[in-house]
Amino acid sequence: VKFADFGLSPDILRALTDQGYVHPTPIQEQAIPVVLQGRDVMGAAQTGTGKTAGFSLPIIQLLLAHANTSASPARHPVRALILTPTRELADQVAENVKAYSRHTPLRSTVVFGGMDMAPQVAALRSGVEIVIATPGRLLDHVQQKTINLSQTQILVMDEADRMLDMGFLPDLQRIINLLPKKRQNLMFSATFSQEIKKLAASFLTNPQTIEV
Ligand code: AMP
Repeated sequence: VKFADFGLSPDILRALTDQGYVHPTPIQEQAIPVVLQGRDVMGAAQTGTGKTAGFSLPIIQLLLAHANTSASPARHPVRALILTPTRELADQVAENVKAYSRHTPLRSTVVFGGMDMAPQVAALRSGVEIVIATPGRLLDHVQQKTINLSQTQILVMDEADRMLDMGFLPDLQRIINLLPKKRQNLMFSATFSQEIKKLAASFLTNPQTIEV
């Protein structure tokens, strides 16, 4: 299997060549076609399996269908939101998303706590289709009205088990209530506990389960 077999845009394939990726990993092989179909996903995958590209690449492809080259920030609403438990993971995911989308008109930024709001506000105000965030800081931006999630069609909960362990469930519920009802949900977790199954049952619609 090659990345080109998924029907990904040449701009994405070029970025993968830049990265030196030749073959998709098993989670990528399973996740990419399902995400491209617009389905919800419950993915059981550890870090190191390539899960980040597994959800980022098809999301970039889906967003490219309506990508806007206009300089106007209003033409770049937040269309995908990726939630992570920690700032380190948020940063890593954001770097991956930037690398995979570098030859496309899509824009992205990362927001997490423990840092000045101002640069994050400036980045959000400039218009970004993809936001990678930790839940608490995202809600700070919501409260200050520096982010608008009314056009967010894709939600990713990365390392959902760690988010639950860290007590983010109420924040996740608050965030989900701000999103359009009609959207695609992707959840990834290293473990498949009762709590994760409950979370999946409440947040996902007819999900395809992927395990590696
Ligand atoms: P992740 O599990 O998403 O944290 O990815 C683990 C590491 O594998 C990261 O350093 C990625 O850049 C790298 N990686 C992801 N997909 C591929 C691939 N298809 N081929 C080679 N390396 C990859």
